[in-house]
Amino acid sequence: MQNEVILSQRKTGINWTTTSFMIIFHIGAIASLFFFSWNALLVTVPLWIISGGLGVGMGFHRLLTHRGYKVPKAVEYFLTICGTLALEGGQIDWVVTHRIHHAFTEKQGDPHTPRHGKWWAHMGWILTGTAQQWDTKIMKRYAPDLMKDKFHVLLNRFYWVPLTVLGLTLFALGGWSVLLWAIFFRVVFGLHATWLVNSATHLWGSRRFETTDDSTNLWWVALITFGEGWHNNHHAHPVAARHGIKWYEIDFNWYGITILKWLGLATSIKTISQSDIALAESSNSSRMMKKAA
Ligand SMILES: [Zn+2]
Ligand SMILES: [Zn+2]
Repeated sequence: MQNEVILSQRKTGINWTTTSFMIIFHIGAIASLFFFSWNALLVTVPLWIISGGLGVGMGFHRLLTHRGYKVPKAVEYFLTICGTLALEGGQIDWVVTHRIHHAFTEKQGDPHTPRHGKWWAHMGWILTGTAQQWDTKIMKRYAPDLMKDKFHVLLNRFYWVPLTVLGLTLFALGGWSVLLWAIFFRVVFGLHATWLVNSATHLWGSRRFETTDDSTNLWWVALITFGEGWHNNHHAHPVAARHGIKWYEIDFNWYGITILKWLGLATSIKTISQSDIALAESSNSSRMMKKAA
């Protein structure tokens, strides 16, 4: 399908449903700063790891979008439910958006390239038009694997249910402080961390691989996204389940996948070959030598 078709099917103008929720969540996140408690922090941190690491990084991105490794269906569904707690839309919509991002990176049709503006790439695209709500035809074109799975189709529609149930439970057990921190603050922090992968790691940082896009590796984005900030490594080899390829490129999502492997739950794990890494490094050093000469 041509990207013109994708674009023509996307409505423009402010998406008031998404925008209203974003405003409410940001107000909640700011309010949380006045309701701090150690109890709330103790609930927030594990939930941040579960939703951002297990859910978005290991689940939505490396497993569902790129199929960088295989797990039993029960584990796939568990990681997907963890991902819905990040409030980044239904998992099929997320996967479709991201597969389109890889198919048209920095070109017309890329849902969030900084070439269309820094604010647009970070948050503007979420607030405008249909954002991540794709129609069935595009979903079937870009995520036929997930559209065949009844669990995924159903959860994609009701993705907000697990977070709502969790929020109500936390409020009943821990009151305002726990609700504001573990739901509102955590969701907003997680959203901006994910959005920084779309904005910052297409703008600033270093490039190991000479890709045709602007993707970069940026350590501080990697730290707040459990490893997703090694985005140039990722664009060069999208299917690889390991994004941080040197020991100092901290990649918690990769460590998580390694633990799943030890448990016998992750198989067929794809990684970037040593020869590809060596090739990129030798061409980088020869480019630097040419520059110096
Ligand atoms: Zn990208
Ligand atoms: Zn990707």
